[in-house]
Amino acid sequence: MKIIPKPESITMLEGDFVFSGSTQIVGLDDFLMNDINSFIDLKDGDKNSCVFTLSKIEEDYRIEIGENIYVIANNREGIYHAIQTLKLLILEYYKNEYSYIPCCIIEDNYKYEYRGFMLDVCRHYYPISTLKKIINSISLLKMNKLHLHLSDDQGFRIQLNRFPLLTDIGSKRNGTRGDGIPVSGFYTQAEIIDLVKYAKDRFVEIIPEIDLPGHTSALIASYPDLHCKGKEIEVEEYFGIVENVVCAGKENTYKMLEDIIGELANLFPSKYFHIGGDEAPKTQWMECEDCKETMKKNGLKTYMDLQSYFTNRIITYLKSINKAPIVWNEAYHDGKLDKVANIQFWADGLKCKNIKNALEEGYPLIYSNNKYCYLDHPYSSLSLKKTIKAQNDMISLSDYGDIVGIETPLWTEWIKDESKLFKMMFPRTLAIADVAWSKSTIDYKEFRNRAANSLNALFIYDIEGSGIRQSNPDCITSLFESIFFYGRMIDKKLGRTIKNYKNIRK
Ligand SMILES: [Zn+2]
Repeated sequence: MKIIPKPESITMLEGDFVFSGSTQIVGLDDFLMNDINSFIDLKDGDKNSCVFTLSKIEEDYRIEIGENIYVIANNREGIYHAIQTLKLLILEYYKNEYSYIPCCIIEDNYKYEYRGFMLDVCRHYYPISTLKKIINSISLLKMNKLHLHLSDDQGFRIQLNRFPLLTDIGSKRNGTRGDGIPVSGFYTQAEIIDLVKYAKDRFVEIIPEIDLPGHTSALIASYPDLHCKGKEIEVEEYFGIVENVVCAGKENTYKMLEDIIGELANLFPSKYFHIGGDEAPKTQWMECEDCKETMKKNGLKTYMDLQSYFTNRIITYLKSINKAPIVWNEAYHDGKLDKVANIQFWADGLKCKNIKNALEEGYPLIYSNNKYCYLDHPYSSLSLKKTIKAQNDMISLSDYGDIVGIETPLWTEWIKDESKLFKMMFPRTLAIADVAWSKSTIDYKEFRNRAANSLNALFIYDIEGSGIRQSNPDCITSLFESIFFYGRMIDKKLGRTIKNYKNIRK
């Protein structure tokens, strides 16, 4: 049976169940009823039934397909997951407007509690309609977190009533890498409230991210007080690592960031709040009297220590409003980071020494190793086949500590439209969904055999991914793809990125 993510166990029985327009669906509320009924039109046929019941079971859900279908789940979320499985089965066995599903018993449970996808809406803005399509697609795959990267050098993307300049100034830039074509866009609070509900109905939690203290040119362009020297800057139009960071020495910075996070926390009822922490060059802190004074007062020896101090103060605030913080792995330094932080691992050298240390020290880890999870990478460097290998990498890291789950980020420097976005997202996100959910070892050939059915299901939601063949390019295609992808990065600001990179770990 072609189900992604792969269920824990399927026991095949004799015979078929004919799902038709006459199949009586029992035990669902209007929303769930509509979710299954609106998927595919079926012709009327013989009477049979599909009965959903809530009951205490060990699995997330259980489906028995015989003369009738009986679905049991612990809670409404389990019922929702069972419906997604049934939708894939209805599609797989669809023929002449009926679906002939082989009789079987499916028992299913997930491996990781955290099964996420991240979209960068700063480098390019995507409308709410695209975000809803993403929610439809990931919830079909039983993924339950949508992380929105809302603030970066190239744009700030959400309306805050207390800080109108964040959208008046921060959501607009003059162009991209000198092309002169303005880019703008932000989500209103009304849109976010609607989106959060849309996601919640589909058992997806939206996690907001404000990246701090680096990647903050849009914040500083809107409110120059956040800059160490109050410098007026523009929203950045080139990519890479920019030297702008918010001042970690001025009390005003903390006050303002708490107000920003507080207003966002009211809009996003999520358990988690992401505060970034990646790629923060220390150049400006090194020249700032306020930052140096704060270091002296608090006995901080290095600028990395100052970043830990800064991050821990924001975390203290997050704790006071009952949010679980997530940070990118660079924010973890020398064991000085508050122990409640969830560390999102994206890059840590060849042997992952820091990540292993963090795990051993008891930090919960969200796995997003760029080698296997970064969907902005071309298929030539991250093929579909390679994406599956995230499973083995996670297993080897789990020897060191607690991995709460996996998230696959999609950075959008080079992705300007929805069509390209989905071509990069799928089919690789199918592999990530399998890794996130399935407890059994994933065999690529067997996975590939299941994947086509899910790609067809996504078509129903108006989502067209790349083909399986395209997502495993041959040597020649890979070579050209790589030259094109990495070649674009060589621009007049590459030198700046290299210089700033050297100033991150100071
Ligand atoms: Zn400063």
